[in-house]
Amino acid sequence: MKRGKVFVISGPSGVGKGTLCAELMRRYPELAATTVSVTTRAPRPGEVDGVHYYFRTEAQFDEMLAAEMFLETVNKFTHRYGTLLSEVEKVLDAGKNVILEIEMLGGANVKKRISDAVLIFILPPTLAALTDRIVGRGSETEAQIRLRQAQVEEEFDQADPYEYFVVNDDLAEAVENVRAIIVAEGLKADGKDVKKNYFGRN
Ligand code: 5GP
Repeated sequence: MKRGKVFVISGPSGVGKGTLCAELMRRYPELAATTVSVTTRAPRPGEVDGVHYYFRTEAQFDEMLAAEMFLETVNKFTHRYGTLLSEVEKVLDAGKNVILEIEMLGGANVKKRISDAVLIFILPPTLAALTDRIVGRGSETEAQIRLRQAQVEEEFDQADPYEYFVVNDDLAEAVENVRAIIVAEGLKADGKDVKKNYFGRN
């Protein structure tokens, strides 16, 4: 059975990457599966342990780190997040692609360990559109919004290992574009392997 590939999906907060991944999974459940990360932050209302995250204490996170259970970890907003190796292996062993919805530093670290991982960045149509969405939530002051914009720009400095940039203007179109990337990446092969498989020779 062909093993799946690892796809990282990153993008600024408010760009709608969660919605995009959920819609991709809803439309194409056979294409890939997402994994559940570990975090030390508290659950938000409606978030369920084992579904949205594995919510763990700092001490538990340290233990998992010492036991080398993580593919990558990151410190963000004073909390820690980590992708479990076991979650990734489980999906790959089932012959499926893995989607990791993680931030960019994590993406770069995944690429260092899994060289054929594919990094996809989700962009807002414009920077102003992103701010509008955050303003729409009504939860942030003007100073906080300016800080967010600066963070988006700063985050983008880490975009080098990212190979694909998908604009999320129309959700359906963005979903189709991410699917196209996953399908095309699945067709990549080494000519030598193909020759061996088809003709039984090197
Ligand atoms: P939130 O706390 O809003 O759920 O997530 C904050 C940020 O952490 C988001 O950008 C999310 O994609 C990222 N994130 C979630 N899980 C992981 C993880 O396991 N590793 C990394 N590197 N980032 C993660």
